[in-house]
Amino acid sequence: MSDLTFASLPLPAPQLRNLERLGYRAMTPIQAATLPAALAGSDLIAQAKTGSGKTAAFALALLTRLNPRDFGAQALVLCPTRELASQVSAEIRRLARYQQNIKVVTLCGGQSIGPQIGSLEHGAHVIVGTPGRIKDHLRKQTLNLERICTLVLDEADRMLEMGFMEDIETIVATTPTTRQTLLFSATYPQNIQQLSARFQNAPQRVTVEALHDEQQIDERFFVCDKGERLSGLTRLLSHFHPGAAVVFCNTREWVREVCAALNAGGITACELHGDMEQRDRDQVLVQFKHRSCRILVATDVAARGLDIDDLPAVINFELPRNVEVYVHRIGRTGRAGKKGLALSLFAESQIHRLRAIGDYQQRDTALETLQEVPQSNQPLAPPEYITLCIQGGRKDKVRPGDILGALTGEAGINGQAVGKITVADNASYVAIARDSADDALGQLRNGRIKGRKFKVRRL
Ligand code: ADP
Ligand code: MG
Repeated sequence: MSDLTFASLPLPAPQLRNLERLGYRAMTPIQAATLPAALAGSDLIAQAKTGSGKTAAFALALLTRLNPRDFGAQALVLCPTRELASQVSAEIRRLARYQQNIKVVTLCGGQSIGPQIGSLEHGAHVIVGTPGRIKDHLRKQTLNLERICTLVLDEADRMLEMGFMEDIETIVATTPTTRQTLLFSATYPQNIQQLSARFQNAPQRVTVEALHDEQQIDERFFVCDKGERLSGLTRLLSHFHPGAAVVFCNTREWVREVCAALNAGGITACELHGDMEQRDRDQVLVQFKHRSCRILVATDVAARGLDIDDLPAVINFELPRNVEVYVHRIGRTGRAGKKGLALSLFAESQIHRLRAIGDYQQRDTALETLQEVPQSNQPLAPPEYITLCIQGGRKDKVRPGDILGALTGEAGINGQAVGKITVADNASYVAIARDSADDALGQLRNGRIKGRKFKVRRL
């Protein structure tokens, strides 16, 4: 058995201590399979399921190569969506803590470009962003990639699906050919091989657990006429009672419809799709992560790669056209050793999709009918928390501890009632147990955070 400790890698001692503080006790399989080669400077093409720790696999490598005194961009990470880019930035920042003054800048669309230009002028060691916006900066000459040592293509399969090939080409052409190129992908279709052939130099290929462990995810398939899917979904929700679930639809139109129908039926649901304003998307995600909304109804693109820990269930309102998408969807549940539930509705005419799923995963896909699912009269419990939005964030030097202090200080609410706290650039979000939400709102509105008054509202 190979050594899975981070100490077996040529990492600086302060980084090893940082990893320990982060609770990273052992490498995940993809980290163990990629880090030795990545740290040695090889190009890599790595395939592993969502939630397997791919970010640290490339972040640890790119960080060891940075020169902190050089404020030029030395590492570039391309991601398909803004949500992913911000998750990757957050992880890189955590892993960069062992060194001082490493600047990580996130460049994505859906945000004004001015402040991004400002951040770049102050210098940035690591750039994380979506291809479209990075290309905009190159065109405006507000970003220079001539000193990039490490280029990472994260979720490369999805970037290609989203039509970013040309943008990626334009961007890569401005980086030095001496760079190291690390390509990560959950799947390995033909066009990924082509991408690799174009941009990589003798890459090592690593595949880890491409499929989910059968023991970990309980997959159930329910035949259901197309016209009965809404009632079928409600039936599944009230029988299985998941603490939280993502319901996947193949189109935005269905996302809207399903979400509206659930809410009309008294089940609090939020929608997530590509047509939404970025701010609304961020807020929906925060609400879901904060457990103030149990059901998230989403398209694949919008939900791609989201690192939602602890998702008890995934529901396919309809089966996706493509098996790899199915595998990706259900990979959001049954993570980190927990059991997951994946429920799928499908029309009899789509039985071929089900067969394809069974073949691909080499396992039985037994059919069930919805009539076999006992009808339950117990309504789905309302969400545990309510999320409050504070109009002040990282840019106002607000930290989670400040918010917790403002809530639980003198005559404040019980710390037990406070759930997750998320601090974004310009706003912060705090989850409060339902019955303490009014008190908490009053406490925050009347009090101060960091000696300042901020606007606070309920999401
Ligand atoms: P992927 O990109 O493969 O979907 P992520 O990089 O987002 O996965 O990692 C998933 C989660 O696992 C993150 O919350 C990350 O902080 C955590 N993680 C990564 N590596 C380790 C490790 N070695 N030990 C413990 N947790 C880890
Ligand atoms: Mg990832």
